Amino acid sequence: MSVIIDGKEISAKIQEEVKAEIKSCMIRPSVAVIQVGDNAASDTYIANKEKVCSAVGIYFRLYKFEDGTPELSIINKIKELNNDEYVNGIMIQLPLPEQYNEKRLLNTISNGKDVDGLTDINVGRFINGKKSLIPCTALAVMRILEEHNIELEGKNVVIVGRSKLVGHPLANLMLNKNATVTVCHHHTADLALHTKLADVLVVAAGSPGLIKADMVKDDAVVIDVGINRVDSKLVGDVDFDAVSKKASYITPVPGGVGPVTVAMLLQNILVCYNAKNSK
Ligand code: NAD
Repeated sequence: MSVIIDGKEISAKIQEEVKAEIKSCMIRPSVAVIQVGDNAASDTYIANKEKVCSAVGIYFRLYKFEDGTPELSIINKIKELNNDEYVNGIMIQLPLPEQYNEKRLLNTISNGKDVDGLTDINVGRFINGKKSLIPCTALAVMRILEEHNIELEGKNVVIVGRSKLVGHPLANLMLNKNATVTVCHHHTADLALHTKLADVLVVAAGSPGLIKADMVKDDAVVIDVGINRVDSKLVGDVDFDAVSKKASYITPVPGGVGPVTVAMLLQNILVCYNAKNSK
């Protein structure tokens, strides 16, 4: 039977750390969120971010645009926020409706305010080992492992998913910890061949129940990043009931990586705030 990792507990701990740091801030840190169009899942994520920001003392501003708003109007708003000295962080709630150029919009955000770590400059700096903002979900997975003293040096880490938001940055963070990293994706010929070798298996595919017990090594650490709605229930990418009988540690969905991701967003907002205010 595995240890079920409590993401809410880790998140609460990080929130307390952030709250304590904010108490010593001269000006209240603030974040601006850009939302375009109506998407029920995005509404839930944004409401959750707002709740957590308010709880620790971060000022939260939401700029909501109707689907069909000219892209230039959104670009102009981002530029205005870039120049607003009271805004420390800016994020665009993804996914955007498909007619918008996601890359162009993300790259309009000033690098020092890019709390999601998704501008080309931040991604490039990160890959080159320079100081940068790093996507919150990748940071969350690392923090979860750290909280449980799970060593990565010399371990076989298998990451399923290679998105810019999760798998890609996470692979870099794991390499920096001297793990041997395999990244699997849609074109991987035999997924189980790789997952069975993992000491640490991270799954961020967005495919419910993708990882079955026979694809996991005994006593592996299993981190399930996936969030999928199935029959109005949230489930991960891992067959939790079966895999939890085999793994040494496992994250549940909900209550695993999700709450820690939101907490890492708070940390990234503070990184932006401190970079500006320590100049
Ligand atoms: P994405 O669609 O951008 O990327 C998915 C990746 O998984 C791709 O690289 C794809 O090749 C790979 N993949 C998909 N199905 C696969 C399969 N059957 N075999 C092998 N590889 C496969 O998604 P994303 O933004 O990285 O998100 C992934 C999942 O994580 C989603 O469920 C998303 O909701 C969730 N997510 C959770 C959090 C959190 O805080 N817990 C944060 C971000 C994303």
